[in-house]
Amino acid sequence: MDELRWQSYTACMISESALLGALRRYWGFNSFRPLQKSIVQSLAGGRDTCVVMPTGGGKSLCYQLPAALLERQTAIVISPLIALMQDQVAQLGQMGISAALLNSSLQANEQSRIMRGASEGAYRLLYLSPERLARADTVAWLKSIPISFFAIDEAHCISEWGHEFRPEYRQLSSLRAHFPDRPIAAFTASATQRVRHDIVEQLRLRNAHKCIASFHRPNLRYVVKQCDARTQSSLLQKALRSYADRNVIVYVPTIARVEETVSFLEEQGISAIGYHGKMGADARRRNQERWMSDEVRVLVGTLAFGLGINKAAVRAVIHLALPKSIEQFYQEAGRGGRDGLPADCVLLWQKRDAALLSYFIGQIADAAEKKRAWQRYDEIRGFVDSKMCRHLQICTHFGENPKWKSCGACDVCGSEPDWLSLRPKAEPAAARRAAVPSVGQSARGTPQSAGKAGGTSADGAELREILREWRRVAAKQQGVPAFVVMHDTSLDELCRARPASLSALLRVHGFGERKVELYGEQIIAELARFREMANTRRR
Ligand code: ADP
Ligand code: MG
Ligand code: ZN
Repeated sequence: MDELRWQSYTACMISESALLGALRRYWGFNSFRPLQKSIVQSLAGGRDTCVVMPTGGGKSLCYQLPAALLERQTAIVISPLIALMQDQVAQLGQMGISAALLNSSLQANEQSRIMRGASEGAYRLLYLSPERLARADTVAWLKSIPISFFAIDEAHCISEWGHEFRPEYRQLSSLRAHFPDRPIAAFTASATQRVRHDIVEQLRLRNAHKCIASFHRPNLRYVVKQCDARTQSSLLQKALRSYADRNVIVYVPTIARVEETVSFLEEQGISAIGYHGKMGADARRRNQERWMSDEVRVLVGTLAFGLGINKAAVRAVIHLALPKSIEQFYQEAGRGGRDGLPADCVLLWQKRDAALLSYFIGQIADAAEKKRAWQRYDEIRGFVDSKMCRHLQICTHFGENPKWKSCGACDVCGSEPDWLSLRPKAEPAAARRAAVPSVGQSARGTPQSAGKAGGTSADGAELREILREWRRVAAKQQGVPAFVVMHDTSLDELCRARPASLSALLRVHGFGERKVELYGEQIIAELARFREMANTRRR
């Protein structure tokens, strides 16, 4: 039986047109991002695969698409956060791909319903937490399921050398022994050579197809500035005023600083919400949703926020303390500009952060762990102190060897956001905002000018508000976050393209067949109503 199954994989070379067809049909996307196609083919062909791709590169699709195509089989996806798995299952549902999440917070009867379904091969993807997979009864049960492959998301959590080590991930190293003939694929956005090696070793990957994308994110501008507490607050204020109406993440090191920063900003009349690991699950989810649905633009969080967060249009990520490592900085900062448009990644650090970090490292009892922590500390100190291009430093850190020496998009190379430079503004903000680049443009402009595409005309801004309101209501009815109904990029494109028919809507980015089926009539009706309204006014 196992022998037969194995053969069915190796025989499974999916044609390019079938891949593109699925991309169109389910996702509503026109083309693959770099490396996606070869990763999908590798997985569909049953090969162990190790993927290192920056945040926002599109890793989820790399395992979701082959899973969708391997009919009557189920891909088992391991991911560290329940909230994240819930979002993915909801999104897959909206795309017409059958998926479920099995976790202990579900009612017993709900769990057995899902398990029964899985045994019958009802799901293309089944999400599990690493703890769940470690249970002997889960392993025994999984052996009766037609598994297509295992996908380990955020795989760097398995390595002590990584900055997000999770002991539960260690147990994944027995996966190979339990399922010797199932392909295993590992995905991470954050891996130095050492961590990569660890992932391959621990998961016992065999002759793995290794796909390593470049870590260079040309649409990000890295800016590092050392300051004192006073300057830091005033810069933060200036920054948030200048990114008004845009999504911003502010990272702070402690829970106390989350609360402090939120109230400071509220006092200044800037609305912000907090997010940290000690919040109740409900409050956390509520806050995350308020931010996801653009209700509040500024989110202040500890690093608990963001692992795999799927919000594409973030225009700035501001760190108010020195991160523990370059990897941590890179990953958190990388949550900006996932839509490919310009975003600022600003690190405003204080001398005392360094002192605090060294103090905590001094407290680490385990000698090996302490050594690793010091190494990470030295690297991040080197990063902020260095006079070398920030982009170049990051690429070098991840083992790349870029040809260029200067980027034009970092403080060292002489690029800074207006709010940081002392020079008076050369032109009024309104004039700058008028220059809105089209979505998909990846060259750098000022982040202030990117953002609300379709908001150039008063009429576009109004339509955007109407569609956002429609999205809010639709999301509420379905009990899913707003971005699951439709991403901001799709919203912007709707405002530009204003499709008048279902077939025209199918051509809009992010609208696959299922989504058009679900919402097409409503959206076309909203757009028609809007046109009608605009015509009446004109008359
Ligand atoms: P990662 O896990 O690598 O951080 P995600 O899988 O969350 O990235 O994808 C980031 C964003 O890119 C998502 O909004 C996703 O829909 C989008 N995306 C992925 N692949 C494509 C593609 N081929 N074309 C357009 N958008 C894509
Ligand atoms: Mg991801
Ligand atoms: Zn540079």
